[in-house]
Amino acid sequence: MSNPKTILITGVSSGFGRALAQVALARHYRVVGTVRNTPAKIAFEALHANNAFAYELDVTHFADIDAVISDAEARIGPIDVLVNNAGYGHEGVMEESSLEDMRRQFDVNVFGAVAMIKALLPLMRQRRRGHIINITSMGGFITLPGISYYCGSKFALEGISETLSKELAPFNIHVTAVAPGSFRTDWAGRSMVRSARSIPDYDALFDPIRQAREEKSGKQSGDPIKAAHAMLALIENQSPPTHLLLGSDALNLVRQKLAALSQEIDQWENVTRSTDSGSLSDL
Ligand code: NAP
Repeated sequence: MSNPKTILITGVSSGFGRALAQVALARHYRVVGTVRNTPAKIAFEALHANNAFAYELDVTHFADIDAVISDAEARIGPIDVLVNNAGYGHEGVMEESSLEDMRRQFDVNVFGAVAMIKALLPLMRQRRRGHIINITSMGGFITLPGISYYCGSKFALEGISETLSKELAPFNIHVTAVAPGSFRTDWAGRSMVRSARSIPDYDALFDPIRQAREEKSGKQSGDPIKAAHAMLALIENQSPPTHLLLGSDALNLVRQKLAALSQEIDQWENVTRSTDSGSLSDL
């Protein structure tokens, strides 16, 4: 028995990608997953005899993406849902983190996701159907010292997703940015890239944040399998939202951020309005 839908998920070796693949396979979806080495490819395809298909792809190897999409479509059939999940967190105070660190963070989290979308979009547009899910983060709404590159990349992906949802609505292609809170994956463990400390001025601010993240890794409140069920509900919904938060921490922190932002906007409203033409007399 096969579910009629095929889902392509980037980064299925662990975490959200792996959990979503497992839950989708259990519900008879065909799942195309990308991994970055042969043992991971073999392990992924072993998850299901007929419905698990793996490709080796680093999402920053942009020139390889078209071949993966066309081979998958020829072999397996039309890809109905693209889940841009591959990503990692760079941790480091901005002054201590190189531009190269930033470039790599944006290459994977932003350019990689956009390159995947651009490869698949002509096919989805031709079919007048599809769903693109970009895994962003609560860090695409809220910020914390020490993860400026990560938050910047996730804010970027939130903005791109929301814009794209407006461009693709006429073609019956949905775009959802899924923003999880803290989940028990490899994100803060083996996957995190940490800049070395070099400026003692930041010790008091940043050392406790780095230490707390290291201590919390593996004990986060979010359950990736529950996130996978939520994402499948999203995939099965006829009118999916443009933004979806996952986890109570994301809910509380994003609500606090929006309330604080709204309050600050109100506080400075007069200055904001003062720049309209003809408003000099109001100053
Ligand atoms: P994870 O367990 O570390 O999984 C990350 C996946 O992305 C792995 O499969 C990894 O492959 C893959 N990947 C990383 N760089 C890649 C690249 N250049 N090309 C292709 N694949 C690449 O962490 P996760 O939490 O599930 O992360 C998935 C997504 O959720 C990320 O976008 C992350 O930013 C986001 N997120 C996570 C949390 C959280 O608390 N866990 C919260 C908000 C958002 P390898 O095994 O080869 O490294």
